[in-house]
Amino acid sequence: MRRCFVCGNWKMNKTASEAATLLRDLRGAVSMVRDRVEIAVAPPFTAIERTAKALEGSNIAVAAQNCHAEASGAFTGEISADMLKDLGVSYVILGHSERRQLFGETDDGVNKKVHAVLKAGMLPIVCVGETLAEREGGKTLDVVSAQVRGCLKGFSAADGARFVLAYEPVWAIGTGKTATSRQAQEVHSHIRGLLGELWGGESAGQVRIQYGGSVKADNAAELLAQADIDGALVGGASLKVADFSAIVKAKG
Ligand code: PEP
Repeated sequence: MRRCFVCGNWKMNKTASEAATLLRDLRGAVSMVRDRVEIAVAPPFTAIERTAKALEGSNIAVAAQNCHAEASGAFTGEISADMLKDLGVSYVILGHSERRQLFGETDDGVNKKVHAVLKAGMLPIVCVGETLAEREGGKTLDVVSAQVRGCLKGFSAADGARFVLAYEPVWAIGTGKTATSRQAQEVHSHIRGLLGELWGGESAGQVRIQYGGSVKADNAAELLAQADIDGALVGGASLKVADFSAIVKAKG
């Protein structure tokens, strides 16, 4: 059984002090959600340490939004996987479409980061998804397949259970437009089929695939009810305790 996993991506929002206030309220709001749903939040780097402290003993894990592929060295302004692990980070979001579009990240670069994150003892949340032009051009499944193959290069069936993937159609991120549950399930099922080709059915069945793209309290239940949707990566709505906790509780 794949356990539902809901992760909030705060992007470049919340100072460390603001984070502490939000987390105090969030802890209370989701404290009763125990085994059914795994929960994480991904604050900016500057708030990670404070977040980890604020969440000690809670049922909410800490995630990061990115990291560098190298372990250390002359990479001014960058943060390594080991540095994140040392702060108590469990998951690292990699290949988010904003990083691909605004910072030129490629599948190859994401693949190197995935290796670094796993080596450091954390789990990657690898994001893939098509643009509107690609969807309208009928290329969605090809684009997503190429991203999955590129980001997962060099891994085998034995690694399957350590992966979280996030299908995030670019046209749905921060736009208020959500993929219909049918559109999302189609891509999730395609990704699982591809993982089966790469790693075999047993391993593919263990990989959790989150959906991301304008997930809100009022559309979460339907999305999370789909057979191959194993959770959500939530941007805007994760900044409001009431909205994020409602999404966490939407899994029936
Ligand atoms: C995201 O940033 O991963 C995301 C899905 O954002 P939003 O929920 O705001 O669309």
